[in-house]
Amino acid sequence: MNTDSDHHYDFFVIGAGSGGVRSARIAAGHGAKVGVAEGNPLGGTCVNLGCVPKKLYAYASDFHMDFEDSRGYGWHTSKALFDWSILKSKKDNEIARLNGIYKRLLDNSGVNIYDDFATFLDAKTLKIGDQIVTADKILIAVGGVPSRPNIQGAEHILTSDDVFQRDEWPEDITILGGGYIAVEMAHIFHGLGHVVNLIYRGDLFLRGFDDDLRKQLVAEMKIQGINLIFNDNIQAIEAKGGLKKVSMESGKSFETGEVIAAIGRDANTGKLGLDKAGVEMNDNGSIPVNDSYETNVAHIYAVGDVSSMYQLTPVAIKEGHFLADDLFGPNKDVKTVHYDNVATAVFSHPPIGTVGLSESDARDKGHDVEIFRTSFRALKHTLTGREEKTLMKLVVDKASDKVLGVHMIGTDAPEIIQPMAIALNAGATKAVFDRTMPVHPTSSEEFVTMREPVKS
Ligand code: FAD
Ligand code: NDP
Repeated sequence: MNTDSDHHYDFFVIGAGSGGVRSARIAAGHGAKVGVAEGNPLGGTCVNLGCVPKKLYAYASDFHMDFEDSRGYGWHTSKALFDWSILKSKKDNEIARLNGIYKRLLDNSGVNIYDDFATFLDAKTLKIGDQIVTADKILIAVGGVPSRPNIQGAEHILTSDDVFQRDEWPEDITILGGGYIAVEMAHIFHGLGHVVNLIYRGDLFLRGFDDDLRKQLVAEMKIQGINLIFNDNIQAIEAKGGLKKVSMESGKSFETGEVIAAIGRDANTGKLGLDKAGVEMNDNGSIPVNDSYETNVAHIYAVGDVSSMYQLTPVAIKEGHFLADDLFGPNKDVKTVHYDNVATAVFSHPPIGTVGLSESDARDKGHDVEIFRTSFRALKHTLTGREEKTLMKLVVDKASDKVLGVHMIGTDAPEIIQPMAIALNAGATKAVFDRTMPVHPTSSEEFVTMREPVKS
């Protein structure tokens, strides 16, 4: 075991994911002696089991409709065949490339990497494999892991982690949940040719998103043939001759090839030994922090999924970056993390982009709102014949004319919503939207050409 001064750090980061890598690099850039422990491939959830492989699979899935749509433009396409093993191996190669980039970024910043999991021995000492390190300041950036339902036969359930590790799938897939991952997985598997059942316990999935977007996505998924089962939940699962027998709370049952649960994520704090360091946790295992990302132990910090109110990569990165600047940078309080108008996207088909308040949240907060909404068939689909609708919506505060929320479901919504977040953070009013010259012919021009509010 090592205990010498080589293994004492100004700043030690547990977890080389989105938040940890950024924080380690920036702190090292400010001259701190920095170490990082990571027991999995570098880059964390986003790179290995989240945003990146998910988006690559969503691209793969989108081709399905593109092939069909091309016929409306004169292309003669024969039956397209999809090969999971090719997609999986191409994806693996790309992720390995990214792992290498993360290693180079850390190495070039002078950060020492420890390739194993860390546990606390006390508030300043960590055990990593057979190494002992000490640090003046420690950052916990360990992210989360998929939650598993507490039901009979839960051992037969897969999660999003499995989706990126397997290259063979049965024809029929059942997905449990109604959040980002469930909806995105439904799109991926359906586009790749599988029969998809999506089970959600409530009456409308994507709770928290604007209701018009939620309803529109339900309509589109139904047209595509995704089997939506709402107001029900899985009670038990039994393995039966290569299939899974699913028994529902409603008393119904059916057989399916695999069940994937996407019911949220648990903080990855179970094996950290936080009790040895005296770090307090919430009941769900996440770590409470103050505005400076400090835990209840003054020199131990937490950022990203393990502690943040948002489980999004850019949020983890901003928090990690801010912390490193705040602890080691020359100008202590010049920057802060702004959580106003965090834009987000769901990579469904059609995709969703959203920023600011939903109509119902705006009303709940006491705003007297005007709603501007348009729903139309995009120009592209005049020739494809596809009945898909794009829906765009502005939630405007009547008194101040400020735009409180921008919501879109339709092609490129995730790309369009980013600049909308800038507009909202700049305090744009509806009048500013109105005086902005449209780009024609696009879908996004509708955001600056909606004249009449929806009658309440
Ligand atoms: P992570 O990136 O999870 O990194 C934590 C790291 O800590 C991991 O590498 C883990 O191995 C390591 N670790 C854990 N315990 C220890 C230990 N004891 N010692 C050493 N290392 C340890 N976000 C978006 O913004 N856009 C998306 O499109 C998006 N898609 C997603 C799709 C899926 C399927 C999933 C699961 C998530 C997605 N997310 C997306 C969320 C995003 O991945 C997370 O918000 C982000 O990765 C959080 O970063 P983090 O640094 O907090 O944790
Ligand atoms: P979410 O928190 O988004 O959704 C969880 C879903 O599971 C909800 O619909 C919830 O229902 C349901 N649920 C919870 N517990 C149970 C249960 N016991 N039985 C049945 N259903 C249950 O989690 P996800 O797993 O989808 O994603 C985790 C996080 O990762 C997201 O919150 C997001 O921050 C991030 N992410 C971001 C993406 C993006 O930016 N595009 C993509 C993927 C993930 P209810 O609504 O009723 O509570």
